[in-house]
Amino acid sequence: MLFRYLKPFGYAISISDIDVSRLLSYNIKGIILDIDNTLVPWGSWDISECARRFIQDLKKVGIKCCLLSNTDNRARAMSIGRELDLPVITNAFKPLPFNFFRAMKVLGLRREEIVSIGDQLFMDVFGSNMVGIRCILVKPLTERDFLSTRILRILERKLIPRVLKEVEYFGDIRP
Ligand SMILES: [Mg+2]
Repeated sequence: MLFRYLKPFGYAISISDIDVSRLLSYNIKGIILDIDNTLVPWGSWDISECARRFIQDLKKVGIKCCLLSNTDNRARAMSIGRELDLPVITNAFKPLPFNFFRAMKVLGLRREEIVSIGDQLFMDVFGSNMVGIRCILVKPLTERDFLSTRILRILERKLIPRVLKEVEYFGDIRP
């Protein structure tokens, strides 16, 4: 029962491996994007060229994007949002649903038109599934993370092979 909510809709090794045309083929018009270990390495202020290109590619095809992060470092998240010219929601308390709803409102889209992208089963995938938004799981950019997350990772690693059965691949690289 709970397991159903841990199954991502899609998988990609990283955001830069995501084929934007594949998003369009699912009629995706907006993305709720996690920051740490998805867009930038955990705790980082620096946005890689690949990450910038992904955001540019989304903008080119008219896919909107809202950053949604559990970080309490608002200054860092806002700086990333400013650099990419994207709206940001911090202290999101994922997997709780209310900030997913807030992000939907920011995007001005219905849940069927949105995918969320994140690196954590228990935050990004579980939270998205609870509000009925499809989630694309990516591999975390670094091993660094909160202690609590590193503990959850041990459980995640056991679940990943099971949850990735019947998943849609949005990039070329398979896990
Ligand atoms: Mg993350």
